[in-house]
Amino acid sequence: MSDPASHDHFGTRCIHAGQEPDPTTRAIMTPVYMTSTYVQKSPGVFIDGYDYARSKNPTRTALEANLASLEGARHGLSFASGLAAMACVLHQLKSGDHVVLSDDVYGGSFRLIDKVFRHQGIECTRADLTDHAQARSALRPTTRLIWLETPSNPMLKVIDIAAMSRLAHGAGAILVADNTFASPYLQNPLALGADIVLHSCTKYIGGHSDVVGGALLTSNDELAERLRFTQNAVGAVPSPMDCFLLLRSTKTLHVRMQRHCENAMEVARWLSAHPRVKRVIYPGLESHPQHALAKSQMRGFGGMISVVVDGGLDASRRMLERVKHFALAESLGGVESLIEHPAIMTHASIPPEARAALGIDDGLVRLSVGIEDVRDLIKDLGHAMS
Ligand SMILES: *Cc1c(COP(=O)(O)O)cnc(C)c1O
Repeated sequence: MSDPASHDHFGTRCIHAGQEPDPTTRAIMTPVYMTSTYVQKSPGVFIDGYDYARSKNPTRTALEANLASLEGARHGLSFASGLAAMACVLHQLKSGDHVVLSDDVYGGSFRLIDKVFRHQGIECTRADLTDHAQARSALRPTTRLIWLETPSNPMLKVIDIAAMSRLAHGAGAILVADNTFASPYLQNPLALGADIVLHSCTKYIGGHSDVVGGALLTSNDELAERLRFTQNAVGAVPSPMDCFLLLRSTKTLHVRMQRHCENAMEVARWLSAHPRVKRVIYPGLESHPQHALAKSQMRGFGGMISVVVDGGLDASRRMLERVKHFALAESLGGVESLIEHPAIMTHASIPPEARAALGIDDGLVRLSVGIEDVRDLIKDLGHAMS
């Protein structure tokens, strides 16, 4: 459990929350406890739950407390990947239960429900959750979960978390918010009524494109207990080394996010004025359909931009082949800028008709704006589109 009494500001919690000097040596960094088991004094007598490392590991304990603090949660649980964290939530459902899912979620999240949990009798309706009437009409008596991502991927739709939590609770369901795109620096869904926050730590929390991980954060004691049971029973836990890398990463989360936001705003404005650009989608632009909501719900607008280039597939392919600083790769949220083509890459597992309905057309390109010098990033895009 994180220390709910901590009133330190975000940047201080990034560096210190969950971490005490090591009790044996006073090492300032939490050690990487590479151990699978712990020696017991007498059968069944062990320290603070440390009997076997799938159940508990001190490096992981520090990470979980750190992430809980950053989301303002009482409980944090970490996993081997974001999808392992999602599976832990879905394992709470039983056959016949229904999930409402925001329509342009991360392709892998959709696939996990549609291709794995559907076979176990979990039903799912996709809905545009920016449209509250549509969200309401997607509910059924068996709805147990509303699952949303905001900003969404790749259309960067901004969903009203407080409104969706009222809708979920009124229907006897819980609200899960995938907060990967915003990171806890920009948005804290639990404070807006969400019951569980999910992170793919692979993205902004990790921030250096060198670790795959996931986390769940909640302040609901009963839910936390059930999730903790499943975390141990299913066993998709992260390694101590991955936990250490993520603890190192969160120390700079606030600094990185600030620069991601500054750079993305400058790139979005520059793209908006470019003659070969049909549309720029960035929550920080006045032209974004939910700009006002983004301003009230978030503390900044993040590092992700989607852009529709003139000339469809050929023009976007040419741009992706010509960039130098932007690396052509899936994933996002690292210090290095990435660029990708959702229809061919990250969202290929969404059926083509559904992709088209969402606006993921063949000219759509997604940028993860890194923290390089923004002048070089703009020069790179300018050259690639010339
Ligand atoms: C990447 C991602 C996931 C899945 O996380 P993994 O760490 O790749 O398993 C879930 N949601 C969003 C928004 C993501 O970007």
